[in-house]
Amino acid sequence: MNKKGAHVLKIALTFDVERDLPNVLDTHFGIDAGLSRILEMLENFDIKGTFFCTGNVVERFPERIKSIEQKGHEIACHGLNHERLSQLSFDECKEIISQSKEVVEHICKKSKIIGFRAPYLSPPKFLFKVLNKLGFKYDSSIKSRKNLKYYQINGYQIQEFHPSDYNVFLRFPLSYTFLRKWIFKKKLIVLYFHPWEAINVKNLLRNHKNRTDFLKNIVFRPDRWLNTGDSFLRRISKLIKEAISKKAEFVTLNQLIV
Ligand SMILES: [Zn+2]
Repeated sequence: MNKKGAHVLKIALTFDVERDLPNVLDTHFGIDAGLSRILEMLENFDIKGTFFCTGNVVERFPERIKSIEQKGHEIACHGLNHERLSQLSFDECKEIISQSKEVVEHICKKSKIIGFRAPYLSPPKFLFKVLNKLGFKYDSSIKSRKNLKYYQINGYQIQEFHPSDYNVFLRFPLSYTFLRKWIFKKKLIVLYFHPWEAINVKNLLRNHKNRTDFLKNIVFRPDRWLNTGDSFLRRISKLIKEAISKKAEFVTLNQLIV
């Protein structure tokens, strides 16, 4: 609470560290070039974020993932190979999440891994049971309070931090005005972004071979390329500056565990 008795807005900046546009590009330019730009930006503002990493990116780029940990950010899990967990059985999910946690813990030895986000924000109904068994403390996969009722959440000591629906508005023309109105009314907002957004995806897409795929998956999906690269970093910096001027507090999700 601040002096006037109003709640201070808490903002959690979260990043899903995975291959570029899973199932569309599947390259790793975001990890190669985008991640360091994001880390530099956060460092300039002296802000810590939460990084949900897929196990295979951690195995492939251990030094890059360690650099996230070394800068004091939170490391959390995001599956092994960016699987759509809602299509898998309980045992399959448990195996994937357990393996991804082991891989992350092996590389990030100083971190306590307690957070999970389902790839594609597509959690299975029994996710909380799996997370509870594997020692997680929170999830950040279920978009809204309304959706929560479809999940079996009772009896498990797992907190849910709903990821926001409107992150992509940051990259759309004119929608920043809407995003900021919406964000600055909240008490807690969990924004999620990706390392590939910090590189110019348009340049990568020019080399895309399959014309049908190109039209279906890319041209008609501007959320996948619009205002990526420098423009994305400018926009997110603008949002952070405004939040700082409004005395918002930036938090990692593990700081919110009660
Ligand atoms: Zn993801």
